[in-house]
Amino acid sequence: MIQEYFQIFLDGYYGYWNYLSSEILKPSWHNYFWWLVGLSVIVWMLELVFPWRKNQAAIRQDFWLDGFYMFFNFFLFSLIVYNSVSNVAVEVFNDFLGLFGIENLVAVQVGTWPVFAQFLLMFVIADFIQWNVHRLLHHNAWLWEFHKVHHSVEQMGFAAHLRYHWMETVVYKSIQYIPLAMIGFGLNDFFILHIVTIAIGHLNHANVKITYGPLKYILNNPVMHLWHHAKHLPAGSHGVNYGISLSIWDYLFGTAYIPNENENEPLGFEHVEEFPKTFWSQITYPWSKKN
Ligand SMILES: [Zn+2]
Ligand SMILES: [Zn+2]
Repeated sequence: MIQEYFQIFLDGYYGYWNYLSSEILKPSWHNYFWWLVGLSVIVWMLELVFPWRKNQAAIRQDFWLDGFYMFFNFFLFSLIVYNSVSNVAVEVFNDFLGLFGIENLVAVQVGTWPVFAQFLLMFVIADFIQWNVHRLLHHNAWLWEFHKVHHSVEQMGFAAHLRYHWMETVVYKSIQYIPLAMIGFGLNDFFILHIVTIAIGHLNHANVKITYGPLKYILNNPVMHLWHHAKHLPAGSHGVNYGISLSIWDYLFGTAYIPNENENEPLGFEHVEEFPKTFWSQITYPWSKKN
């Protein structure tokens, strides 16, 4: 059993390594690496041509740090541990279910639906779960220490999107796993969905003023998300505007908050100036922090 798990770990590791190197070396339309680079360049250009905060430097504060986070979280972390560990976790979990004679978790079968409907369903459900997880990251004191990394951004730009502690990947993916596994999707390739999510997330953090008109009640946007990062929130609030891609959940559940459209609203949290400034000190912060 243990040997089998170890094999899955190694296969996952090497599989991902081969995948990553071919991603970088062979650009194609079905390639996360080059889509991430391309989208980043496009959104960055938008920031430079139509800046919301006119005096923000092209290479803003923490630009390179966030750029590193982007590749660390998207590729390196998956490469180093997540991909392998999660393959093992899934196997352990399936074996565990097997003890009770459960062979799979599928409760609703949507595999026969049209492709577009499956994508839409996946998008809406995953986003709603993520909205709840994000809310949890703000309300649970232990998780908040990890989520602070994302909120330590004091000057916003597209790359701030992927500045977050790797524990967030673990928390989001673990909580999502069971509910999504219960829906029998006919597709196993949600590539386009990931790309759409990255594009929306980049824009939410970008130094551009886009609100999508009346669609702002459905789609998250830079003005709304800037307030998510605001340093000063209503008294007693743990957070506002928890939306990831969609803003609708915040409107439905009363957590939407956009008191004005001040582009220079101070960002961060109380005593953000004392928060560590480098990658390593930030990702070790939750454990090294002295109360
Ligand atoms: Zn947050
Ligand atoms: Zn954010």
